[in-house]
Amino acid sequence: MRVKLVRLAIISVSLAFVCVGVSNAQNLVAKKPSIETIQVSENIYMLRGKGGNVGVVKGTQRTIIIDGQFARAFNDIAAAIKVITPHPVTHLINTHYHSDHTSANEKWLEQGATIIAHINTRNALAAEISATGPNPRLPMLPVNALPFVTFTEQLTLHEGSENIEIVHFPKAHTQGDIAVFFPKSNVIVTGDLYFVGVTPFIDTQSGGTYQGYLLAMKSILDRADQDTKIIPGHGPLTNKSTMQRDYANLQEFDPTSLD
Ligand SMILES: [Zn+2]
Ligand SMILES: [Zn+2]
Repeated sequence: MRVKLVRLAIISVSLAFVCVGVSNAQNLVAKKPSIETIQVSENIYMLRGKGGNVGVVKGTQRTIIIDGQFARAFNDIAAAIKVITPHPVTHLINTHYHSDHTSANEKWLEQGATIIAHINTRNALAAEISATGPNPRLPMLPVNALPFVTFTEQLTLHEGSENIEIVHFPKAHTQGDIAVFFPKSNVIVTGDLYFVGVTPFIDTQSGGTYQGYLLAMKSILDRADQDTKIIPGHGPLTNKSTMQRDYANLQEFDPTSLD
């Protein structure tokens, strides 16, 4: 049975300058972003605003964030992080290149953060700088705000007793998506490899594919158990059973119906 999923369609990137899709586009011009802080585990928090969700890791002497949202939300995000921890943001992980996750890169660089991403994410951001990339209308980042550390398959950060595993999932939402796993805290940050309750946007012009997206969701689900806290790219903090429901719906979705 072919299922028509709610609200968002798999749409061409030429129609959407960020990955939240057309139906949310008006929200992106909201005057003042308000940030909601959700404690996920002892040392991990989620910040929710108008762009992609932000993961915050409260380290013993440092702070690591996963995605930095919009540049215009920087002051609000920074203020929310200061409530969580006095330690500076030393590392910023970009889950993929879309601007609702990366356009604050320069602001975080100015704060001293080292930016980490998959090599394909760096290349996509660099292509935009040269205006030859898939989204030349996006605001351009300066070269220094491109990721400083890149990898091809997997990278592990070690904060206290937590091994933070950053894993690449090819040809999914884009060509450079990563998810971040916290085995000790039993938390997963999916980036835009998961949108809660809606059909995901798949950036086919940047190498995203429907099949790759399903494979990524399945791999993430395989690493989760019933107690895992899942921070999605967009939507509320969630869990394995909700993600399994959305995965099952997406499996029945016929992407060719949109051709
Ligand atoms: Zn997004
Ligand atoms: Zn995205």
